[in-house]
Amino acid sequence: MSASILIVEDEAAIHQLLAYNLQAEGFRTRVVETGEEVYPAIVEEMPDLLLLDWMLPGLSGIDVCRMIRARPETQKLPILMLTARGEESERIRGLATGADDYVIKPFSVPEVMARIRSILRRVKPEAVAETLGFGDITLDRVKKRVTRSTRDVTLSPTEFRLLEYLMQSPGRVYSRAQLLDRVWGNDNFVDERTVDVHVGRLRKNLSRGREVDPIRTVRGSGYAFDERFGKA
Ligand code: CA
Repeated sequence: MSASILIVEDEAAIHQLLAYNLQAEGFRTRVVETGEEVYPAIVEEMPDLLLLDWMLPGLSGIDVCRMIRARPETQKLPILMLTARGEESERIRGLATGADDYVIKPFSVPEVMARIRSILRRVKPEAVAETLGFGDITLDRVKKRVTRSTRDVTLSPTEFRLLEYLMQSPGRVYSRAQLLDRVWGNDNFVDERTVDVHVGRLRKNLSRGREVDPIRTVRGSGYAFDERFGKA
């Protein structure tokens, strides 16, 4: 999985639990603790899904939901709402306000994960697909395997994540800083040249210097998985 989730929850124990488990599944997470912080966080980077608690200090989850649906740029942002037990009428109101689904607190972590996956499968299938395939390259996220035609391609864990990230949005160019952030995560000890080194190794393992290179270097910008790869 490689989607980004914005968690809106004021209780630290709950957002930590959610963030921990989502990260373990490969999701990228950010947390804000109030409804007021949601919009600035979205402007900074559009998430793939909003995990939104109903009970927040200040702006409530419902207020946030309404606001998200009212603005054209966020109208389609998927929202999974967390609601308290026994608030049937409020849950119905939540769905009426535009949440895609809801989970009742106290929730089980696997249930939240399943709901998130099911929403993403609908709106962003490439983020939760078990395999990604272009041309003769297939990446299996579950078995952590890459094959090229009939050959197994051996990659380091970082090279695998890098290829997975690029293959998720073919044609999209990512800067070295973006790749560091999204593939290496919060490890600030690596610098941007590390990206070049890993892209170089990834290329070598994928193409062995004689097959078509699926990765484009975009001068002054960064790297992309070539959207024309395999379509010649
Ligand atoms: Ca709360």
